[in-house]
Amino acid sequence: MPPLFVFFSFFTKEALESCREDILRHNVRSLFITSLLTAVVIGLFCFFPVLAEKQLDTCIAYLITAVVESCVALYASSLFRHDKYKPLLVIAGFLVFYVSLMVFGIFLGIIQSPDEHAAIVWVFFVAAQVLFVIDFWQNLILNLVMILIFSIFAVLTKPFNIWIFDIAGSIIAGMAGMVITRYMYYTLIRGMLSKRRLELERNRFQEQSIKDELTGLSNRRDYLQAVTFYISVCQHVHQTVCAIMMDVDFFKNYNDFYGHPKGDIVLRAMGKVLQALIDEERVFAARVGGEEFIVLWTENRISEAERVALKLRQKIIDLQIPHEKSLVAPYVTASLGMYILRGGSTDSIEAFYGNADAALYEAKKQGRNCIILKDSADNTLRKVEPLPLEQKPGHR
Ligand code: GH3
Ligand code: MG
Ligand code: MG
Repeated sequence: MPPLFVFFSFFTKEALESCREDILRHNVRSLFITSLLTAVVIGLFCFFPVLAEKQLDTCIAYLITAVVESCVALYASSLFRHDKYKPLLVIAGFLVFYVSLMVFGIFLGIIQSPDEHAAIVWVFFVAAQVLFVIDFWQNLILNLVMILIFSIFAVLTKPFNIWIFDIAGSIIAGMAGMVITRYMYYTLIRGMLSKRRLELERNRFQEQSIKDELTGLSNRRDYLQAVTFYISVCQHVHQTVCAIMMDVDFFKNYNDFYGHPKGDIVLRAMGKVLQALIDEERVFAARVGGEEFIVLWTENRISEAERVALKLRQKIIDLQIPHEKSLVAPYVTASLGMYILRGGSTDSIEAFYGNADAALYEAKKQGRNCIILKDSADNTLRKVEPLPLEQKPGHR
């Protein structure tokens, strides 16, 4: 079994790579391929007791069933594109999926005993996980619950020497399903991210139209492309998207006092700080207005997201650019509005921008040189404070 598993993982990766071209628009298709292969692999895991008894014809019939089942899942998943009908279609799709499987299974004479029903339920369950693209913990908990249910069922209905194999089989199937689904998500995300990088590289001649001349960062136009992409990742791959809208404090005063050319030097320094953040934290950063910048990245752990925002604020303070006319500090500072769009949810580009802007507005209101976080989970605004020194991880 292990070589087979490795083979399928590899094959699936290839399949995902090959549909990279339109992975953004049609990521449903890659999810289907994932579902199909997972069904087949898990199918094999579930049926290995049958395989051990050398009932090869039954095994082949099971595999055919798994493939047919995934074809039905394809149809169901292609309907996912119509977001409006999504919940109903998901339910309807899976009902069709299950009934067709049963009809097909009974027709071929495969489904006779409760065991065979159970094996089919496993396939169904894992394919469903792949299609719904749920997060790691949900994934793990669901698998553990399934293992538990199957184990109880086996213990209650079978003699000892049989149920011990059933439990072992369900644990293997559950964990294999887990590994495969996680692997898929990461491949999918990596594919999406590298697609964007490739696009940028291929269109070097386009670069001038997406770069900000003064800072060398992306410009507003590139930001609009990027944010569309990030919102799509958030919605379809269930990754939490973080945005920081950053605005230099009392910049008009700076220009008035030191002159515009000096002001430009400050903006270039901001560009360098953000470039360092791009390199260190793999974020996207753009200059979207005069002294306004936006940072985008995906991070499911909120504490990690806060760490990046605190790091950015600190980097600006560390520049120690004198600013006599600032009312908050003797050096240049910035206010940061942070917005977190939780994985699985969606915003229009305007709403996304508006939410980050609302957080920035609040940061200005609360005295500048600070970070305000707005969370899409509850729409509340709160201040992000650095950890006290003694609580900093790794600090001695
Ligand atoms: P606040 O703390 O509320 O953000 O106040 P502020 O003065 O920073 O904000 P305001 O929006 O009043 O001023 C922004 C200034 O940014 C006005 C403009 O002179 C300056 N600015 C915009 N683009 C550039 C640029 O490309 N170079 C320079 N040097 N200054 C710029
Ligand atoms: Mg401004
Ligand atoms: Mg400003």
